[in-house]
Amino acid sequence: MEKIKCNKCGKENIVKGNLQHSGSVLFVPQDQKGLYVKKASGIIAHACKDCGCVFDLTLENPEKI
Ligand SMILES: [Zn+2]
Repeated sequence: MEKIKCNKCGKENIVKGNLQHSGSVLFVPQDQKGLYVKKASGIIAHACKDCGCVFDLTLENPEKI
């Protein structure tokens, strides 16, 4: 498995997850307006269990944007 280091403290005690808010937090492009968003992607993030830094925010489906 790839070694990911914390952006803040440099340690490797990293967990991967999704940003959620009673469902998922989505990245929606600025040109998408209205109730029916056609383009959106979930966001994957890494978090450091040592210092609590959340980093490496990455679109789950960049091809949908
Ligand atoms: Zn850290």
